[in-house]
Amino acid sequence: APSTSTAMPRQRVTAKGQNVPQAIESFPELAERYEMNAQFLKNLEQNGYGEPTGIQAHGIPILHEGRDLAAISPTGTGKTLAYLLPILSLLGLPAVNSKADVGNGVRAIILAPTRELAHQIHNECLKLAQGRKWRVVLFSKATANALNDKNVRDKVDMIISTPLRLVSAIQSGQVELSNVRHLVLDEADRMLDTEFLDQVQEIVAGCSREGVQKGRVQCYPSIRVVVGLKDTPLPLITQSLTYVAD
Ligand code: ADP
Ligand code: MG
Repeated sequence: APSTSTAMPRQRVTAKGQNVPQAIESFPELAERYEMNAQFLKNLEQNGYGEPTGIQAHGIPILHEGRDLAAISPTGTGKTLAYLLPILSLLGLPAVNSKADVGNGVRAIILAPTRELAHQIHNECLKLAQGRKWRVVLFSKATANALNDKNVRDKVDMIISTPLRLVSAIQSGQVELSNVRHLVLDEADRMLDTEFLDQVQEIVAGCSREGVQKGRVQCYPSIRVVVGLKDTPLPLITQSLTYVAD
């Protein structure tokens, strides 16, 4: 039986950018608007996600339309799902099932500042991924080593990692970034701190595929979604915006 859905407060969101896509009112709307696979909606319901939070209502359409996004909202407002759902939906079928040419190698990368946060993101992803053969790898030394096998490496859909772990996997040839279509910096304020900046910039520069979708999410005591930054290099997106509380 589906678990009881938890109603989360729908916060007020301010969106900045050109042609901002309209927010959704409910998750099922995504099936109509974007032909989102019914399995995702089923997974949401079974995991008790009744209604989209504010950041999800605004952020999911923006990312689903292939726009870049910087999203800022307080802790606990559902930013993880706001990017995981549209990214999984845009990936289409898991690489292992796909007959279309999706290229070889990982297509989505989520970077987080700590192992603990990466682990939480992975858990959230497993809920959404139920019922399909997604290969989502929570990076550690051991799971990265599994990618020494090219057959495994070619069919990975998503990697969730800290920057340092990913950089060392790139250096040892376990990961190649040329097929990456979606890149997320979770807790971007920390990711762009001096501790991680060099590694993050190296990863951003390595995602050389044209039109790679970039996003960052961040905690902040006001809520704002920024779109229309498609041609802005990620380091600029992340450093040039200032936010004021409403
Ligand atoms: P943030 O990254 O903004 O701090 P999280 O993505 O970690 O927030 O989400 C906080 C909690 O809320 C998680 O336990 C998550 O499963 C839950 N959650 C997210 N979206 C919803 C929703 N639409 N309805 C109910 N619970 C949700
Ligand atoms: Mg978070």
